[in-house]
Amino acid sequence: MSSSVIAIDGPVASGKSTAARLLATRLNIPYINTGSMYRAIGWKVSRLGLNMEDEAALQKMLEKTEILYTAPAPGENPDIRIDGVFPGQALRALDIANLASKVAMIPFVRAYTLDIQRKTAQSQLVVMEGRDIGTVIFPDAKYKFFITASPRVRAMRRLAQAGETADNATVESVAADIAARDKQDSTRATAPLKQAEDAVLIDTSDLTIDEVIDAMITVIRAKDSAEQ
Ligand code: C5P
Repeated sequence: MSSSVIAIDGPVASGKSTAARLLATRLNIPYINTGSMYRAIGWKVSRLGLNMEDEAALQKMLEKTEILYTAPAPGENPDIRIDGVFPGQALRALDIANLASKVAMIPFVRAYTLDIQRKTAQSQLVVMEGRDIGTVIFPDAKYKFFITASPRVRAMRRLAQAGETADNATVESVAADIAARDKQDSTRATAPLKQAEDAVLIDTSDLTIDEVIDAMITVIRAKDSAEQ
């Protein structure tokens, strides 16, 4: 039997978080943003001033780390707490995104998050969004999507998101940051960003968000009726 998961993967600023959140709202099911877990770990590393090269210290820190993810109410942001603390918007900063991408390369970090993510989705249907949901976390997910968009559209979208880019950022500088993080995410040895063979590809460059959600719901309904 397949897992009750709508897996949504894709590169930085492809529109996958917005699509995942709104799809979950439309279907009235929980939304799980896995990137926030790596961001929370990156945030803790930064707060403690740990050296990213010191794997023993990172492992020790992770053993004493408790992440609690609560799926958001429709229209709200996810509530993620690390050791009882709610970092909130601090997780969206560019330096934390880059640290998240670094911690996400480490196999023991991924084993830790895999466990949390599998436990988060055990009974009812959920939307889970990230980089490796359809390939590693739930390879047997019932529905799988890979969301992408052109580099220019992605840079412009990211630039429009307050607090996620440097103050003097330009489309070109943001596009370069995005390309660097994507490269790191797609070339790492453990659970790299890639499209699952059975995922439906949606290029959101020329679509409105409603069109993206409609396209996903059409795929989901088609699959449901094929199974009946
Ligand atoms: O999706 P978001 O940009 O918030 O993710 C931050 C970083 O966390 C990504 O660049 C990636 O390195 C990592 N990540 C991951 N696997 C996931 C989700 C996020 O490696 N499932």
